[in-house]
Amino acid sequence: MDYIEIEDLEIFAKHGVLSAENQLGQKFLISTKLYIDTAKAGLTDCLDYSIDYATVCAYITDYMQANTFKLIEAAAENMVNDLLLSFPIIHKIDMTIKKPWAPIGLPLKTVSINISRGWHTAYIALGSNLGDKENYLNDAISAINSDPMCIVDKVSDFIETKPYGFTEQDVFLNGAIKIQTLYSPKMLLDFLQKIEYEAKRVRTVHWGPRTLDLDILFYDDEIIDEDTLIIPHQDMINRDFVLIPLNQIAPHHMHPVFKKSISELLASLTEKN
Ligand code: AMP
Repeated sequence: MDYIEIEDLEIFAKHGVLSAENQLGQKFLISTKLYIDTAKAGLTDCLDYSIDYATVCAYITDYMQANTFKLIEAAAENMVNDLLLSFPIIHKIDMTIKKPWAPIGLPLKTVSINISRGWHTAYIALGSNLGDKENYLNDAISAINSDPMCIVDKVSDFIETKPYGFTEQDVFLNGAIKIQTLYSPKMLLDFLQKIEYEAKRVRTVHWGPRTLDLDILFYDDEIIDEDTLIIPHQDMINRDFVLIPLNQIAPHHMHPVFKKSISELLASLTEKN
């Protein structure tokens, strides 16, 4: 992707673990790559379709001088997050903060932190089979969309489905959404579990009744296999209540493990059943 690059913007500010660093201040050098699509600005020669790097430099300078962090990791993390939220045209930011005067009593050229953060695409399955199911699903979507770190792009219809696993329970209402998010996969899981918790999810039986179930189906094309998080969602290819709503909003999305589109996976499942 295209990017605009700022190299070694010099700022005097007060970050550091030592109290002297917070009082006296020191020099920081900030470099950043701002990933945007520059084609329209290039074709029209109009700044409205690009990002004004003077504005970004002033923003970074103000941010560094208005805040005091112990760690340059924290300065970078918070500032990049703020920039991504303030300038929606930016998809991704790489940032380096250099400390040329790091007070360690030894000669060094610079010490620096480098981070890369940006918007990611995720698909989430929603389900409910207790109480006012439609309300639980709509409330969950509103809660996701009202978090500044998430934007809901697409919402499927809600479909009624028969229970899976433990079958002696009420029918489910299921749906799927596409979001853009600044959360990492693990942070997104924590955020969704907080929403489930707030919906007072009741779980007595595995696969049993629940007020709200939120599962991460995909996170970009990432493949994650950890104790608490498996992406793509482990059993999604066998669940028509996941594939049917997902097929409405992303029929051509490719499963990164099986290398098949959602519409192909749904067709295979329908054939099997
Ligand atoms: P359930 O709500 O029955 O789908 O299961 C919730 C548990 O599954 C949680 O403890 C999560 O840590 C774990 N889990 C693993 N992968 C995922 C995923 N992709 N989305 C949501 N929960 C997941």
